[in-house]
Amino acid sequence: MILLNSKLPSVGTSIFTVMSKLAQEHNAINLSQGFPDYPVPEKLINCVTEALKSGHNQYAPMSGIPALRALVSEKINQYYQANYDSETEITITAGGTQAIFTALAATINAGDEVIIFEPAYDCYSPAVKLLGGLVKPFELHGPDYEIDWDMVKKLFSANTKMIILNSPHNPTGSVLSKKDIDALIKLTKNTDILILSDEVYEHIIFDDIKHQSVALYPELRERSYIVASFGKLLHTTGWKIGYCLAPAKLMLEFRKVHQFNVFSVNTPMQVGIANYLKSENIYDELSIFFQQKRDLFRSLLSQTNFKLLPCKGSYFQCVSYAHFSDEKDKDMAKRLTIEHGVASIPVSAFYTKNTDDKILRFCFAKSQDTLEKAVERLMKV
Ligand code: GLN
Repeated sequence: MILLNSKLPSVGTSIFTVMSKLAQEHNAINLSQGFPDYPVPEKLINCVTEALKSGHNQYAPMSGIPALRALVSEKINQYYQANYDSETEITITAGGTQAIFTALAATINAGDEVIIFEPAYDCYSPAVKLLGGLVKPFELHGPDYEIDWDMVKKLFSANTKMIILNSPHNPTGSVLSKKDIDALIKLTKNTDILILSDEVYEHIIFDDIKHQSVALYPELRERSYIVASFGKLLHTTGWKIGYCLAPAKLMLEFRKVHQFNVFSVNTPMQVGIANYLKSENIYDELSIFFQQKRDLFRSLLSQTNFKLLPCKGSYFQCVSYAHFSDEKDKDMAKRLTIEHGVASIPVSAFYTKNTDDKILRFCFAKSQDTLEKAVERLMKV
């Protein structure tokens, strides 16, 4: 028998996989894993098909095709008034998760401490641990999940290497404010602390709130890796394509890792997406599109026994049931799937400790029909 000591002994199967599988087994409406259930724009499909047919089927350059990087650079300039050189500061990645892992692999050494706000998207912490880093979790709680930066400061040590941000936030739908940014600028001033800013929901932000990209702030930009996602932008989460932005010095290290674990991202998707983005202006419409879904879902849910938490961005709506049940959120999520036919994500899955605030996350990136049917079932809870 081979003896294999697990590098991640306490890690099981991701909650998204667990809940999606359970939903499938019980033929439940799947509002757990975050992905759209409506068709992708026809024109986008045509652009990718055309790229495949016209022979764009060999390796792309390691950092991504120039046309797509140039479009990203233009967009960042337009939305965040920041210059990212498409040659040296933008890399196309096989999705947001790969970009996050690569940024961590390029920077985290054994013993480095990484501050993570919890509830936190589930890929951050295992990646840090795998690299020998130490996770310093900072717990946030609903309804607003606000950050007390004076308390965050207490987590700082000589070994603090990085802070991971995520706004708009998965799973809570909260967003960072200008006040948060100001505090962060102050805290990191005259330090070598890096920032990994997961901004995959940057264009899904509601009620005219302005997305506080770290790209907007030179003091933060110089120390940041920013991660973005075409999957969220184009309603194509299964295409697994995104990008990373960072100043040249940071990006040089990122690419040293990227070239040996991915090398390059699939060519026809890159060509197709570039051609689509050239002809369509999709950025501003996205928030309007998802705000309609959020508003519909919230008004439907208000007829149920669940209490709605605020949702300022992302495609997730959190609800609390603490006022009517003591059941653990993982049990509640399971029971809703099996007995009521609606799958959700228990938010306790995103905390290191056994923190259970009795909150469930629902994905509303779904057709109106799906949302209506789901809430019809949730009314019986
Ligand atoms: N980002 C998706 C979510 O939050 C899940 C992606 C995945 O399954 N890894 O639901």
